[in-house]
Amino acid sequence: MLTEKLKKYFGYSEFRPLQKEIVEAVLGKNDVFVVMPTGGGKSLCYQLPSIVNAGLTIVVSPLIALMKDQVDSLRAMGIRSAFINSTLHPGEIDQVKLELQQGSINLLYVAPERLMMPAFLSFIQGLKIDLFAIDEAHCISEWGHDFRPEYRQLTVLKAQFPKIPIIALTATATPIVQDDIIKQLQLTYPVLFKSSFNRDNLFYRVIPKNNTYDQLLNYLQARANESGIIYCQSRKSVDALAESLHIDGYSALPYHAGMEKQQRSQNQEKFIRDDVKIIVATIAFGMGIDKPNVRFVIHYDLPKNIESYYQETGRAGRDGLASDCILFYSYGDKIKQEYFINEKEDVRDRQVAAEKLQQMIEFCESPMCRRTVLLAYFGETFTEPKCNTCDNCLRQRNVVDATREAQMIMSCVKRVGERFGSNYVIDVLRGSKSERIFQNGHQHLSTYRIGHEIGKNHWQAMIRELTQLGYLKTEMQAGQYPVLQLTDKSAAVLFQGEKVFLSEPEKEKVKPVVIMDQDYDRELFERLRTLRKRIADEESVPPYVVFPDTTLKEMATYYPSTWAGLRTITGVGEAKLKRYGPRFLKVIVGFCQQFHIEPKTKIEPRRQPRKMRGPKATTEQATLALLQQGMTIDDVASKRGITKTTIWGHIEQLILAGEDIIIERFVSLEKQHIIRKVLAELGTDFLRPIKDRLGAGFSYEEIKLVRAKMVADKG
Ligand code: ADP
Ligand code: ZN
Repeated sequence: MLTEKLKKYFGYSEFRPLQKEIVEAVLGKNDVFVVMPTGGGKSLCYQLPSIVNAGLTIVVSPLIALMKDQVDSLRAMGIRSAFINSTLHPGEIDQVKLELQQGSINLLYVAPERLMMPAFLSFIQGLKIDLFAIDEAHCISEWGHDFRPEYRQLTVLKAQFPKIPIIALTATATPIVQDDIIKQLQLTYPVLFKSSFNRDNLFYRVIPKNNTYDQLLNYLQARANESGIIYCQSRKSVDALAESLHIDGYSALPYHAGMEKQQRSQNQEKFIRDDVKIIVATIAFGMGIDKPNVRFVIHYDLPKNIESYYQETGRAGRDGLASDCILFYSYGDKIKQEYFINEKEDVRDRQVAAEKLQQMIEFCESPMCRRTVLLAYFGETFTEPKCNTCDNCLRQRNVVDATREAQMIMSCVKRVGERFGSNYVIDVLRGSKSERIFQNGHQHLSTYRIGHEIGKNHWQAMIRELTQLGYLKTEMQAGQYPVLQLTDKSAAVLFQGEKVFLSEPEKEKVKPVVIMDQDYDRELFERLRTLRKRIADEESVPPYVVFPDTTLKEMATYYPSTWAGLRTITGVGEAKLKRYGPRFLKVIVGFCQQFHIEPKTKIEPRRQPRKMRGPKATTEQATLALLQQGMTIDDVASKRGITKTTIWGHIEQLILAGEDIIIERFVSLEKQHIIRKVLAELGTDFLRPIKDRLGAGFSYEEIKLVRAKMVADKG
């Protein structure tokens, strides 16, 4: 049942590690304590129970600015949620309170100071509360990096509501803070869940400073469309860097505590809504940045300690997709930091800070796996000998002479006129028979099919590495997709015999959840992204509230072109399917037609077929299976050699049996609405009077499906 709700509301087919166990412990009325790194999926641990429980879940969060977006997200998924904080007018608060009293809200977000107001406490005494969720629970501890006095009042929550379970959640790694949280919240025999602090989608790199600005531009060049944060040490350098980037044509804005509050939050808002790609900031930026698609975090200057570094880099890749963490390091930065430390009054403070800085330096200078060092700092052992996603692990990788392959790529890039992306270039090299290539006449090029014996992924890896090494560059074409072009360095390889050494091909790493970056169709992705931005602006929500990048990338991998196909995509739940499905389908279908692309079937991990009642189970399920592949009723009928009427009958039975059939595929929303009204008025027993009332525009089949849906929904 939990798995069904997970798909229905959130659109996920699997739990992340520990989520299921945590949800079960919460539903078992236990106090629960969750320690999970950023991006681990903590919110689901109380959001899912709030749907299962009949009453109210109250979420305490310090992040007032985020509540609206969170609630917008939840509502888009069909979860009845609301928030109360100081940004609402008294009238709006009264409205929410009314809804709470009517029991029409399952999930309420409040700030701690609001919750602990005597009047508010006595108000909620009258509600049916199932659970308190304390988010960012480390804010209660003075030992933590983010102590908030208003959290302290929560210590009396347990005394006031002894019967109501509490779930406390934090991403804090230090044991001393963890113990303090349990003590302060007075959790009773809490069930403890701690997951690893390893963030396996983050790629760690430390780069010696050497013309840092050029190094930065070099990195940013290939990432025109991606979001990232650049941390600088001082406000002055934030302003200067943001300015330079702006002049160089990058979409970048500054953020620091010295700016006017309004300007600051405006810049933050633009970043969250994808209106600006890069935010250049001091460490003042980041607390509560829930943006899931931050693709890189760059430390332009040395961080003070490993805690901050871990926290700040942690803001990359919340959505689980591969993201970069880059630190520019110089000895000079170390001296600068030491200077600040020596300014500190308190001796003890000075010592602690100096010690922590020393550990940070060791991290930078160590030749060991970055991940191993980082996790060791938090008392965790990384068990693999190499992580293969940090600079030190990769440095030890073998390189091979790849001059010939590099030449093939470069001359192909040249021959297609430097106007195509890497997928296309690879298709030409491998001799793909795609319509596009034939339309462009590229099957006649001398580079057509010269590299057919090398796999697609290997070609991708080589192109990526060549780009990183400056032998190729990617250029954005007027708001479209990135195309590959040659650089000055390419000429040396093509004409002067310069040799190129590239990494030996990696063994394929199997990663079921993360779609590897090279696998999706970038052109389609860009179109979907444009559509998403348009919808987000219409609804004035951040783009990720519509769909996260992961979902768009899956769409751009499988090209789902039917309702059934679309709902297999991660992140597509029932509510979003109905709300956004048609517009996304339109783009995908149009794209597929334009380029003659066939949709691919997504293999769903472990989806148990549901049990069916009655003797006809098998024939109906055969129909269901075909429908789920995206076939129309006509298709299914001719494929199975039975009449359409029989298929309609199957669908009716499937709906009655509780199968999730999206009837919008067969009956439009407007029609459903009208049929429902008449059914409500005339009853569901006799079809004839209903058909008569509705007239010729409606078929018996349509009425039957809507009737089945009504009956199934009722019980
Ligand atoms: P945290 O609060 O621990 O930092 P979030 O709750 O914000 O993490 O979740 C991080 C990201 O992971 C979000 O984009 C969320 O939608 C996604 N996510 C959470 N649970 C799952 C799941 N079971 N399957 C796929 N994605 C998930
Ligand atoms: Zn490593």
